[in-house]
Amino acid sequence: MKPSVVIVGRPNVGKSTLLNRIVQKRVSIVEEQPGVTRDRVEVDANWLGRDFLLVDTGGWLVKGSELDAKVSRQSEEAIKGASLVLFLVDATVGVTDEDISVGRWLRSAGVPVLLVANKVDDSAHESQIWDLLSLGVGDPFPISALHGRGTGDLLDEVLELLPPEEDVEVADEEEEEGPRVMGVAIVGRPNVGKSTLFNRLIGEERAVVHDMPGTTRDSVDTIVETEAGPIRFIDTAGMRRKARIDEDTEYFSMLRALRSIDKADVALLLIDSTEGVTHQDQRLAERVDASGCPILILLNKWELLDAEQRRDVEYQLERKLHFLGDATVLKVSALTGKGVQRLMPALSEAIEAYGTRIPTQRVNAVIRAAQQAHQAPRGGRVLYATQGATDPPTFTLFTNKELPASYLRYLENQLRDSFDLGSTPIKLRVRRRG
Ligand code: GDP
Ligand code: GDP
Repeated sequence: MKPSVVIVGRPNVGKSTLLNRIVQKRVSIVEEQPGVTRDRVEVDANWLGRDFLLVDTGGWLVKGSELDAKVSRQSEEAIKGASLVLFLVDATVGVTDEDISVGRWLRSAGVPVLLVANKVDDSAHESQIWDLLSLGVGDPFPISALHGRGTGDLLDEVLELLPPEEDVEVADEEEEEGPRVMGVAIVGRPNVGKSTLFNRLIGEERAVVHDMPGTTRDSVDTIVETEAGPIRFIDTAGMRRKARIDEDTEYFSMLRALRSIDKADVALLLIDSTEGVTHQDQRLAERVDASGCPILILLNKWELLDAEQRRDVEYQLERKLHFLGDATVLKVSALTGKGVQRLMPALSEAIEAYGTRIPTQRVNAVIRAAQQAHQAPRGGRVLYATQGATDPPTFTLFTNKELPASYLRYLENQLRDSFDLGSTPIKLRVRRRG
């Protein structure tokens, strides 16, 4: 397990800005108005070769509505597992009542805290930071998250304060010893029905369900025992929780999706059929596709559509997600359960295709036949082919000269069709002989 560095502070002090600065653009939302509540964001960060998790708690609202209380509770949870807390304060504003409450809480929580004075954009502002000593959590460390001033020094300091690396590595090895279980990520825009589907899958399978705690409370995977073997649904904490903190934003679902795809062997891309294929669906699909993860497309809420609407969605799918090739498409209703029974078999198939290993002889037979049917231009030829790797199937082609991309695509399709690889991504490596 990587050590986690948790950023806390009242809204608008610059938490997201700092997070973005540290991990460079891969990340969270910077909002102008204060108090924009949001879910917690965790990202992988690295400084001078040391990996750690960076967590933005999404604000710490001490007083106010019930929603605020929930956000505060989230922050508290995050802090419990933290290796280090960065307590961010806006130096241009100085100490506020809220800062005082947060500081008090941090002192009582007994976690290592580094007080960070943000928005110190130039040295003229540096004298202001000594006010912050009154928070009683140590010397303030001046930075400008926006301009990057002092952030490198801050990270040096963070490394100093993290637990020694040896301990962390031992924990890593232990974790990796368990059996390999197929990972499935359920992705889609907010409200397309991810939670509904997930809960139905758990129910339908009547399976043993165990939670696999990840690094924090919020990244819990669920293992479901199915006939096809155990399947791990990735990052399911939010899906099982009944009342979510607040509406997911598109941005967060994208972020979460990308994170879970990293750990997945197959992605289930949910689309709300009643809304058709939206631009956001397209973007998400592109990202999943780029990750090399096989994709199953689920057109959800199918029961709400009449015949004409159904045709329209199918047409949109062809037009807007054509780059997914022949990914399996299932029409389902997560709510009523209709069509959901086809999901597990489809998943097993996708997983199987991904791990396919084809004997060299058969690979060569297919390539030979393909070349007989259609020769490559200008005397190009594949001399020999072999499957070098699985997950995903990776073929190495040894050729006499360079082959045009269109011809390689042709060969890829021949391999795909001959070996029933469906929508599994295939990699081709081309080596020139001589
Ligand atoms: P959060 O609510 O704590 O996550 O705060 P944000 O990261 O959303 O930042 C709130 C506002 O402060 C944004 O308008 C940022 O551009 C601004 N901000 C963040 N860091 C700095 C900084 O170092 N200097 C200045 N001048 N503004 C900053
Ligand atoms: P998530 O944000 O993707 O997790 O979406 P939810 O699972 O929370 O579902 C959002 C809304 O869509 C809820 O009101 C669900 O009851 C509803 N919903 C989900 N699946 C279906 C479906 O197949 N048919 C219909 N009619 N509603 C659905």
